[in-house]
Amino acid sequence: MARDRYFESRCVEVESLCGDVIHITLERADGEPISWTPGQFVMIHFPDAAGLSLNRSYSMSAASDPATPTRFALCVKRVEGGLGSTRIHSLKPGDPITTSGPYGRFVLAKQLPRDVVLVATGTGVAPFRAMRAQLEALLEAGHRVWLLFGVRYEGDLLYHAEWEALAAAHPGFCYRPVVSRPQAWAGARGYVQVFLDEVKAAVNPEDAIAYLCGVPEMIDGMRDALQGIGFGMRAIKTEKYVSPPPPRAKEEG
Ligand SMILES: Cc1cc2nc3c(=O)[nH]c(=O)nc-3n(C[C@H](O)[C@H](O)[C@H](O)COP(=O)(O)OP(=O)(O)OC[C@H]3O[C@@H](n4cnc5c(N)ncnc54)[C@H](O)[C@@H]3O)c2cc1C
Repeated sequence: MARDRYFESRCVEVESLCGDVIHITLERADGEPISWTPGQFVMIHFPDAAGLSLNRSYSMSAASDPATPTRFALCVKRVEGGLGSTRIHSLKPGDPITTSGPYGRFVLAKQLPRDVVLVATGTGVAPFRAMRAQLEALLEAGHRVWLLFGVRYEGDLLYHAEWEALAAAHPGFCYRPVVSRPQAWAGARGYVQVFLDEVKAAVNPEDAIAYLCGVPEMIDGMRDALQGIGFGMRAIKTEKYVSPPPPRAKEEG
């Protein structure tokens, strides 16, 4: 990890998106601009109780904004007992945090086939939200974009109104939310795999690409399922949301 990518940041604003997820805006404390390609992530760096240095990764949940070039936004779920997510959720406007980046190759390819199938669970939708302007450009150019979005409860459908507005503005945007533990939800129930038959019927896998982001179980399951309906290995891009192993475990290994 190149130290020259490290910079101090401070919290600008925190907005609650649902019970345990915040949209947090940060800015570089040194006033330097930061730019990234939608789909990339930053790391936060912090010490654990024993003073060992830990890091956690978080996708940018918005595109760079030339009007606020020092700022970037993340969408972070608080994990019970989680060190990094608790650290971010504790931030108040003005609080500092060490960061580095941007990193990652989970970005839209320059040349894309007709169908672009985005699949997310939970905060895994963050990189796709950052891609919004690119998705609109693709839709205007005649591509079809799918967003299969799985969450536990309907209240966890992050940026739901934005996705619905995109679908209303672009018939080629196929927004497919699904809820595994619905309360008063009238839409699809279960996991993102429930949309496979529809994708299989509508999409030519030789003229399609899939981007999967979120929990490893979804990614492994969906990768196999997409391969099962004809997607080639190279047409499936993945970003698994996992924490690195603790530093002690690395030393022992
Ligand atoms: C490239 C990349 C981008 C990421 N982007 C985001 C993002 O935009 N937003 C975001 O919220 N997270 C994102 N993550 C996940 C994030 O980096 C952390 O893994 C997550 O915040 C948990 O870290 P923690 O330190 O809070 O919990 P840890 O201390 O790592 O884990 C505490 C316990 O919680 C369990 N656990 C970990 N994650 C979850 C979970 N999601 N649900 C339930 N239990 C869990 C662990 O198994 C462990 O038992 C990303 C990960 C990667 C690799």
